[in-house]
Amino acid sequence: MAGADTFRGRPLIVATLHGKERAIGPALRARLGVAEVRVAAIDTERFGAFSGEVTRALDPRAAAEAKARAALAESGGELAIASEGSFVPYPAAPLLTLDEEWLVLVDARDGRAHAHRHATLDAVFAGRRCESLEALLEFVALQPFPEHALVLRPREHWRTGDGVHKGIVDRPALERIGRELLDAHGELWVETDLRAHCNPTRMRAIERAASAFAEELATHCPRCDAPHFRVLRSLPGLPCSECGEPTELARALERRCDPCGHLAEVARPDGLRAADAAQCGACNP
Ligand SMILES: [Zn+2]
Ligand SMILES: [Zn+2]
Repeated sequence: MAGADTFRGRPLIVATLHGKERAIGPALRARLGVAEVRVAAIDTERFGAFSGEVTRALDPRAAAEAKARAALAESGGELAIASEGSFVPYPAAPLLTLDEEWLVLVDARDGRAHAHRHATLDAVFAGRRCESLEALLEFVALQPFPEHALVLRPREHWRTGDGVHKGIVDRPALERIGRELLDAHGELWVETDLRAHCNPTRMRAIERAASAFAEELATHCPRCDAPHFRVLRSLPGLPCSECGEPTELARALERRCDPCGHLAEVARPDGLRAADAAQCGACNP
């Protein structure tokens, strides 16, 4: 199939209940020329819910692929995309939270599932156990609320029968539900609502992920012309501008074509040819 036109003119289905087509659609239209963006309102939460009522059985990439395949099955379409997010401690600094977004585009014409991972520390994610309304309001004062919605429930780890109050965006509702939970249980758990339409920071992360993914999909294999000549890893060793020794910084990227297996080293996209001596283990140990 001619690479450049793989996606052009084809309808794209976005599997979402949470308005993600607004974050995903524009980049794929602009970069890949998909014809129209439709929404398949499948119950994406059956693959796992942030608020804990449904435990995700699949890893995030597999969950995104399962959602995209469910959207294809339901809509009868040939091209569907879905995303799956995880909020995990950042390994280098575990007090920081990493928002990891996987996007998977399934193309029923050639059977390929294209996957892309995007990770960012720009995340709004917090939770706290509270035993009083004062403690709840103190927590809320530190949050970007009400632009980012909150979730209230009786305890941190959901149990059968627990009521979960999601998408709270106004103070009267917050205080009323907070009081009810405190009266009934003596404590409550409050946390950021992580669903994309309730968390504009996450919606922006998905938008950036879609934009980078569209760029990757539009890059073709120089050998077989298949789309998605993807970045496999970055290769360290950018030489120091003072002494020429290799540094930890990337000197190049390695790209791979999954259908034909072609591997190639390509220059850094920013064109940088040498590292600052401050980044060099020899000059600045
Ligand atoms: Zn190839
Ligand atoms: Zn050096």
